[in-house]
Formats: sequence, C-alpha cells, structure tokens
Amino acid sequence: MIYGKEHKMVLQAIMHEGALDEKRGKELISKLFGHENTAHVLNEINAKLQPLYMIVKCVNCEVTGQLYWVWASTVQDKIANFHPEFSQAQLTLLRTIYSEIVTSNNGHVSSTWCLNLCSTLNVKLSKANAEEFLYEMVNRNWLACKNGKYYMGVRSIVELLQYFKDTYQDNLQTCTLCKQVLFYGEKCDQCNTTTHVYCLENYAMNRGGLECPNCHYPISQHSQSGNNNNSSMDIDEINIEMNEVTQSSQRRSKRKHKD
Ligand SMILES: [Zn+2]
Ligand SMILES: [Zn+2]
Repeated sequence: MIYGKEHKMVLQAIMHEGALDEKRGKELISKLFGHENTAHVLNEINAKLQPLYMIVKCVNCEVTGQLYWVWASTVQDKIANFHPEFSQAQLTLLRTIYSEIVTSNNGHVSSTWCLNLCSTLNVKLSKANAEEFLYEMVNRNWLACKNGKYYMGVRSIVELLQYFKDTYQDNLQTCTLCKQVLFYGEKCDQCNTTTHVYCLENYAMNRGGLECPNCHYPISQHSQSGNNNNSSMDIDEINIEMNEVTQSSQRRSKRKHKD
C-alpha cells in the first residue's frame, strides 16, 4: 500500500498526542486499514518521515510497561529543545526534577520534594501552579506518576535522550537486558545492575522465575507494574502529601539536590 491519507491520519493522531498509547494506535489502524499490522504501517510512516529527520518510536513506560508511539526528531540538539510554550519558572522546575530523577539512585522523586522546590528554588511559581503544571506534564507523558512519585515519562526518554546523555554521562544507567538507557528499574542487591521492570518480567516469563539477568541472584519484586494506576488518583496523593508538608516542619525541603 502506498502512503495515503490513512497514514496521514495515524501520524496526525501521534503528533497530536505526542505519545500515543499503543492500544489506541492499534484501534485506529484497524479502523482505517482493516488489519492490525501496526509495525508495517509504522514502517511506512517512518520511511516517509526519514527525509524530514523525524521518526515515530515505540517506547515502553518504565513504570507501567505500557507501550507508546512517540513522535520525535532524529537530530537532537545538545541543548534540549524544551517546550517553548512553557514559562521560565516551569522550565526551571522541570529541569530540576529531571536532574533529581537522573542523579537519584531510585529513578524517581516524590511530589512533595517537587512542590517544595517552589519555596527553595528561585522559582516564581506557587505550589498550586506547580501542581497543575506537573499534572499536565504527566498527562502529556513528559513525566510518569505513580503513588505520589514522579518518574521519567516516555516523551522525555525519547525526545530528550541526547540532552540527558550530554548532561549526565556518568549518571546514566543502561538496562542489563535491552541495553537501552534506563532511568528507573529493578536493582539487583547482589551485583548492583539495573533492569527495566518490563524487560525483567518478559525475562522471568521465559525463565519461570525472577532472578537477576546478570548474576542470577533471586530478585524480590517490590514493584507491581501490573497495577492499573492512572494519573487522576495520583493527584489525590499529591494533595495528601501537600497537607503533610504544611503541617510538618520544613525540614524535608532542606534536602539538598545535586545539580
Ligand atoms: Zn530494558
Ligand atoms: Zn545481579
């Protein structure tokens, strides 16, 4: 099949979302093309995009394992092309959160920590505004959120990869199985290597047990990626944590971040 208006409609849906949930992408392709050969359609789209230095990439969410089709540029600047529609204050907040996620040893930051940045950074942003902005970032898949913690979102993983590589060379980890850059995963207590939760689950399914792919030490799984969390319940978590903050002393906000 030649590139036609059906392909354009799929591409428009991906561009509109920035990151399109694979389930919805499949539905769309099935409706437009009458088959579910998504890989074939995506290849045709990517062939068309290649001269424009754009690409649609399939990426799993590190937290849920959910697959997304992400629209990205194949030429990435050393300086991240952060979203021009955001204010300086929002960008400062976002960069600081990225920095903390990358340099932390568990790949996430608590929402409390993020909101406290409003009082510790020179960020002209109220906590309510920051909360709204972060909710939007999760909605648009720049960040992922689970149980009141923020993780790297699929769009950041794809679109800002070069920026992360240039900025945090020594801090970036790779998955023991897929060898891709990893921000959050299951860490082995024995050999300290880290593996994507979804890579580990595939691996365990084939091996019949959960063990470190590197040293074969048994792994006790503490994260249940199977839970279907959505961002709306995470906002409640933020509210709860915010109340804790206002009630308790500001000691926790003094936690210094490396930048
Ligand atoms: Zn992996
Ligand atoms: Zn190990």
